[in-house]
Amino acid sequence: MSNQNDAFKKIIAHSKEYGFIYQSSEIYDGLSAVYDYGPYGSELKKNIKEYWWKSMVQMNENIVGIDASILMHPTTWKASGHVDAFNDPLIDNKTSNKRYRADVLVEEYIAKIEAKANKEITKAAKRFGESFDKDQFVATNPRVVKYHTEMETIANRLGKAMTDGNLDDLKELIVDLKIACPESGSREWTDVRQFNLMFSTQLGTIAGEAGVLYLRPETAQGIFVNFSNVQKTTRQKIPFGIAQIGKAFRNEIVARQFIFRMREFEQMEMQFFIKPGTQQEWYKHWKESRLRWHKALGTADDMLRFHDHDSLAHYADAAVDIEFNFPFGFKELEGIHSRTDFDLRAHGEHSGRKQQYFDPTINENYVPYVVETSIGCDRMFLSVMTNSLIEETITDAKGKTSTRDVLKVHPALAPIKCAVLPLKRNHEGIVAKAKGIFDDLKLSFNCQYDDTGSIGKLYRRQDAIGTPYCITVDFDSLDDNMVTIRERDSMTQERVPIDKVEGIVRERVNMKQLLKSI
Ligand code: ATP
Repeated sequence: MSNQNDAFKKIIAHSKEYGFIYQSSEIYDGLSAVYDYGPYGSELKKNIKEYWWKSMVQMNENIVGIDASILMHPTTWKASGHVDAFNDPLIDNKTSNKRYRADVLVEEYIAKIEAKANKEITKAAKRFGESFDKDQFVATNPRVVKYHTEMETIANRLGKAMTDGNLDDLKELIVDLKIACPESGSREWTDVRQFNLMFSTQLGTIAGEAGVLYLRPETAQGIFVNFSNVQKTTRQKIPFGIAQIGKAFRNEIVARQFIFRMREFEQMEMQFFIKPGTQQEWYKHWKESRLRWHKALGTADDMLRFHDHDSLAHYADAAVDIEFNFPFGFKELEGIHSRTDFDLRAHGEHSGRKQQYFDPTINENYVPYVVETSIGCDRMFLSVMTNSLIEETITDAKGKTSTRDVLKVHPALAPIKCAVLPLKRNHEGIVAKAKGIFDDLKLSFNCQYDDTGSIGKLYRRQDAIGTPYCITVDFDSLDDNMVTIRERDSMTQERVPIDKVEGIVRERVNMKQLLKSI
């Protein structure tokens, strides 16, 4: 745990030190669970969004993008069920006065049992070496079997209490499991209450209920209310999808995990409209497709897993999370939900305008079913940082060892693609040459010119922000028109003609290669 904690602290500190993420309004001591992206963070985030958008919209002829407003007609949220049901169960500890999500307390309890089971498995794997059969061990070892049965029983009780909205059962589960407040160790809990997560605001000067507006808690509804507009104006035929990237707001009860759980965050969502009855096939398709998208970035297999929902949201007939192994354990990174015709039907009823599709292949009208993929851009950012930030021990030519922090982010996502570094910052010829190279490269990529330190220091700085290539201009460059190009991960240096630099950089930072590999 402490290693994990250290890894998480390191990501938070690194994000701040190198201009990726700052606490919002920090000079006023910050605003809880709201963060700002700095110069490198905003570039990285932009690239993540571009990767998602291109893979969805550009690569699929039957998916189109929109950009809907954050504020929507308030009936939207009545129809979608958010006014009545977008609640989290909260519980307070009477000793520490700390507030928790009751379901999360139970989930964390389950995660602890899982950690114990995994410890047994790791121990056994060490003991048996090559001959270890994990599946057999998991199925037969009495301790592991006991842990797994216990986890299943608790997950079932939690799932049932959540699906039924039974807050008393949820409280009883916390009491039965003797869950203590992580802060005070006390087991004195209040009853569980529902808490609506939507932020509300007022429309113009209209006072009272009539003027209540909500900041959207998900981008999906902006897609649903535009279904007919988009279908008609683009003449898409089912199956087709609508994608959107945008801000969402949730008044989260507990927000203690950096950008994992924010009150203002960004979602990348795609609603795929299909013929009723085909949802299983499309659900499977999007599960596989989304996992490939994550893996194309080089994410190791054991860092991602599927987790079927223990309880289903009011709109879903199947739901799975893609979980990522964050520094604080496996948690939801993306959700894939089979939403049936719940949303379009509800908007049809509330607006009095049927949200239907005429299917020319069967000559019939129907309300399409929907499979949705929904990923938080900020959680994706945190997963990229978790995967990429590495502390390496390196040995120089003289055998001296040191460490370097290097952000081994996929080159297509890197904030800066290439840095141009003059060996001497006061040498007129070198500076002119280096600036010339920089001025040319900046037309193609996000580049940086840096002369504020020794070459060694400049390399370290570029490593820390994940720049795939550094180009050093030295005295010889003036005569031979060649520069040294250094690659971030291998640290290999090569002397190349200046006119080859752009091609070398382009080859690796190109989003095309990444998209091809999905
Ligand atoms: P959780 O169970 O963690 O609260 P959720 O199931 O409510 O998440 P969804 O409603 O399925 O999440 O939202 C889709 C995606 O939006 C999530 O997979 C996650 O990546 C992202 N997301 C949701 N809430 C937040 C938040 N508060 N901060 C950052 N990202 C979020």
